[in-house]
Amino acid sequence: MARRTTLRKNRVLFLVHRKEILDQTITTFKKQNVDLNLTTFGMVQTLTRHIQDIPVPKLIIVDEGHRALAKSYQRILKQFPKAIVLLFTATPHRTGRMQLDQIADDIIVGQSIHELTDKGFLAPFRYFQPPNDFDPKLLKRGSTGDFTNESMEQAMSTKIFGHIVKQYKRIASGMQAVVYTYSIDSAIKIANEFNSEGISAVEVDGTTSKEKRDLAVRKFREQKIKILVNVNLFTEGVDLPNVDCVIMARPTASLALYLQFSMRCLNPRKGKTAIIIDHANNFKTFGYPDDDRDWKQAIKSGKQKSKSLLTDPGLAIVTCDYCFAVVKASEVKDGKCPICGKPIKVHKAKPVSDVDLVEATKDRQNLIHEIVHSNLLKEVANKNVSELHTIKELQAYGKLHGYKKGWCYYVAKRKGII
Ligand SMILES: [Zn+2]
Repeated sequence: MARRTTLRKNRVLFLVHRKEILDQTITTFKKQNVDLNLTTFGMVQTLTRHIQDIPVPKLIIVDEGHRALAKSYQRILKQFPKAIVLLFTATPHRTGRMQLDQIADDIIVGQSIHELTDKGFLAPFRYFQPPNDFDPKLLKRGSTGDFTNESMEQAMSTKIFGHIVKQYKRIASGMQAVVYTYSIDSAIKIANEFNSEGISAVEVDGTTSKEKRDLAVRKFREQKIKILVNVNLFTEGVDLPNVDCVIMARPTASLALYLQFSMRCLNPRKGKTAIIIDHANNFKTFGYPDDDRDWKQAIKSGKQKSKSLLTDPGLAIVTCDYCFAVVKASEVKDGKCPICGKPIKVHKAKPVSDVDLVEATKDRQNLIHEIVHSNLLKEVANKNVSELHTIKELQAYGKLHGYKKGWCYYVAKRKGII
């Protein structure tokens, strides 16, 4: 579109909000034979202060178009009322009432994440939601529509830092991972925790110098560090091709942020299955990253709609009690977890309770160990209570499902076994 515009001797204005994107775009435009003499590239933050100097464009292309309602963008767009404006975004939804219908006449929905995965443009992924000390009731929204730092701090218990490392080692050991967290303080704690376990990690945030940040990114690209912990940095645009695991250590009320976090690890590579570890229950608000969403509805202004963008909240998704995998109910065949093969109940995901984490994990691991080594446990795992005929079977079944001892006696008596 830019090339055809310049071929007709009309001007193009390309708006971005990050320097990195600017450089990438200029390279791509050159390759694509766009007449650069007829093209103005610019950072919104810069151009908005020099509007009078911008040559009148016929076509305006806005990168990360979900931001275009912001004043800085609006000042530029309003200056050129006759231009055709194209907003490009992977997340055409904003936090809050005002949506893109305020400025856009229509939406053209591209291919879904599902389709792109099927065609190999995105890697398939596995989603895990370990139990933690996270308390969603403590979350409060700030003026941006997303949660405040103070409330995130309170909702994410400090105990979670060691837990994050433990779950990484269990679920994604050795994978290159990016951690998203809510504050510099928490980012530093998480990075320290990884390093103390011998897993190389670096923390970067908005106050990190450009040199240090570039160095961290380069080392990560060269696989010299395993974990990159960041606060609001790697959301849009930064080119990090070798992320295989994303760890969400912060909740968000923004669908756009959720998708940017979780999809960060979906760059495809032969044989790759990405891993998303969600410590903040984000999937309960937004569903799977690749759920089909009604974007035509999403651009309509009105009440908060993040939640209604979920096709079937809670019901379609199940968490495995043994391996913590979050799977679609439709993936559960014969009542078994598609990841670990243990019995899994298709019910609405339980709210996280404040269980004693260490104990619970240990018990669970002991039980997994026992199941693996006991034919009896494996046998009864696939049966209904009506198919159990001996005390031993009942005991095994009760153990598997965590029933109290009295249950076994009660059922045995009812069945006439004792
Ligand atoms: Zn499982």
